[in-house]
Amino acid sequence: MSAGLKGIRLAVIGGDDRELYFIPELQKLGAYIVGVGFEKAPEISGIEHCSLLEAVTKVDALIFPMFGTDERGMVKAKYSNGPIMLNKEVLQAIPAQVPLFIGWARPALRSAAELMGIRVIETAFLDEVAVLNSIPSAEGAIQMAMENTVITIHGSESFVLGLGRTGWTLARVLKGMGAQVTGVARKAVDLARALEMGLRPVHFADLEEEIGRADIIFNTVPSVILDQVVLEKVSRSAVIIDLASIPGGTDFEYAQMLGIKALLAPGLPGIVAPKTAGRILAQVYPPLILRQLTTHTK
Ligand code: NAP
Repeated sequence: MSAGLKGIRLAVIGGDDRELYFIPELQKLGAYIVGVGFEKAPEISGIEHCSLLEAVTKVDALIFPMFGTDERGMVKAKYSNGPIMLNKEVLQAIPAQVPLFIGWARPALRSAAELMGIRVIETAFLDEVAVLNSIPSAEGAIQMAMENTVITIHGSESFVLGLGRTGWTLARVLKGMGAQVTGVARKAVDLARALEMGLRPVHFADLEEEIGRADIIFNTVPSVILDQVVLEKVSRSAVIIDLASIPGGTDFEYAQMLGIKALLAPGLPGIVAPKTAGRILAQVYPPLILRQLTTHTK
């Protein structure tokens, strides 16, 4: 059910193609949009363009992209004319009642915001975002695998490392395509569920012995799981698609040294399915925004 945003002023700051679909959806719900970093965006209309410093003082909520900022506070903004920095000056200008939504906040931003009393709401970890985003992520990862292998997914030995929100979706889609899917997890409940779903369950403790049979390895664990010891056992013709957040869960340098093709695949929803990804944001954000705004004014 969509929540009405009539009379609410939102700043949408940077991002990628998904914002081009997200913004019109917010407008349909009645929100007034201040856009930061959309000067070069095609077909975006009805927004007020301004700088980040100006925007923070004229809106009810701030929406930063799913992938947050880089370590210097630079906001990725595909359609911006210039750099956008979420720096101390901007943080100091944010009024106390204005919530800051961001996919993933770096530790430095979290601690600065806490010190300054700014409400930061991280959305990438919310189940409703992560589960829905797992659909374009899984499709995008499989697309990358298809483009980088000489075999079909059907009949391939595909390993999914980590059975969380993304891992389960990937495993299910791969199985539907006829792959021999091995699900690698560390919890007994996940291994049991993998068996129930017709996957080959493997505990992470046994990864080193098992990984040699993989044609395609999809990693979703955000820690270095594919380290030098494990990579030594990977077939030189295998392909690794690493979906885990930057820097991924693969020792990429070592993989390259061994001649194994290993690809980091960040931000897949915005790349492979920006319209769907934008609509996912439009489905999830309005109730979150309303909850934050009403809680604060009570
Ligand atoms: P999730 O639901 O938390 O799943 C992560 C899985 O990794 C869990 O099953 C967890 O197992 C396992 N895990 C974590 N640390 C581990 C370790 N040290 N050893 C073994 N297993 C470990 O997260 P998610 O939503 O699926 O996202 C997974 C990653 O993909 C994140 O980094 C996320 O940012 C990224 N992501 C990327 C894209 C993209 O476009 N590339 C899209 C979506 C998500 P336990 O339950 O046992 O802890």
